[in-house]
Amino acid sequence: MKKVHSKLTQSVHVGSVGDPQFGGLVNPIYPSSAYDYDTLVRYPRYFNTPNQTAVVQKVAALENAEDGLLFSSGMAAIMTSMFALLKSGDHVLFQNDLYGGTHHAALTELKRYGIEHTMTDVTDLKNFERAIRPNTKLIFIETPSNPLLKITDIGGVAKIARKYKITTIIDNTFASPVNQNPIDFGIDIATHSGTKYIGGHSDLCCGVAVASKKLIEKIRASAMHFGGSLDAHAAYLVERSLKTIVIRVQQQNKNAMAIARFLSAESKINAVHYPGLKDHPSYAIAKRQMKNGFGGMLSFEIKSDPEKFLKKLKLIRKAVSLGGVESTIAQPVKTSHAKLTAQERKEAGISDKLLRLSVGIEDAAELINDIKQAL
Ligand SMILES: *Cc1c(COP(=O)(O)O)cnc(C)c1O
Repeated sequence: MKKVHSKLTQSVHVGSVGDPQFGGLVNPIYPSSAYDYDTLVRYPRYFNTPNQTAVVQKVAALENAEDGLLFSSGMAAIMTSMFALLKSGDHVLFQNDLYGGTHHAALTELKRYGIEHTMTDVTDLKNFERAIRPNTKLIFIETPSNPLLKITDIGGVAKIARKYKITTIIDNTFASPVNQNPIDFGIDIATHSGTKYIGGHSDLCCGVAVASKKLIEKIRASAMHFGGSLDAHAAYLVERSLKTIVIRVQQQNKNAMAIARFLSAESKINAVHYPGLKDHPSYAIAKRQMKNGFGGMLSFEIKSDPEKFLKKLKLIRKAVSLGGVESTIAQPVKTSHAKLTAQERKEAGISDKLLRLSVGIEDAAELINDIKQAL
């Protein structure tokens, strides 16, 4: 196919081979787990079946990456990428604001295999650089972060990593491949929980890692051992979802901005965390690296009882997970950060009154009205 550059066109057309036999427009679902071995050996756990490949081509195009792998979950993408690059005795430098699953995996799995790690504040890059050790093999960042929407300077981290020849991974889930393309800023590997914006309909679980061909082959070699591949039917659903990711995320960007502005002006709200607000401490960095929008995630502190507020919402649903077409809300104390002690939460700046909103594609005025009546 002719090379297309607009994300709108890429999301629809890249990876589409259609159905030459019957003239159908869409890729058929190829459920085969057995293929002729004379040419390329295809096998679901080799991450190279037609439906897996179609998804990878789309996400890689949207991320300006050479290649990628489709996994059965975001954690499979993250852990397989890390284990493919690390060995016992190595050190990983993480930013200290991380998805709970990644945080916990570092404390348990990496530790158990003799891989050291440090979690450091990355808002001060000099301080972050000082945490690098002679055995640091990997730097892992995540931006915007959960649930306070803190912003990491992607280009700044990539520059430091290059200086020390350290491989970098970013969890790009919150921004989605529409808003932020970390490989353009010198990051080596971008991972997504495809369960969120890539799937986008709160009905499937998958993960993606994109990088250079060379790095992807290295990760694939381990991935074939760990085996976290996605089956053809789910892969087809992911491909279908990706055709609308750009318009979905554009609407979510717009809605989130409108809600963030409304909340900022609302006297019943204490604090609003959204990187698209000019008073966000890292607004300038966010504007530079989130080229197409500031995303659909925001959080805020409510003055009144959060439980009562949540009960009164009619349109916005109380749920874990995020990135779906429907707006959902969660209380981090009860969900993502329930395992932390009160002191740890205080240090992380997560109050009991903090609420995290995943903005959907509904009408912004109706979402705002729902919040207004609940307040
Ligand atoms: C959900 C999530 C993950 C884990 O993804 P799964 O698909 O649940 O395995 C990782 N990182 C972030 C930022 C997430 O939101």
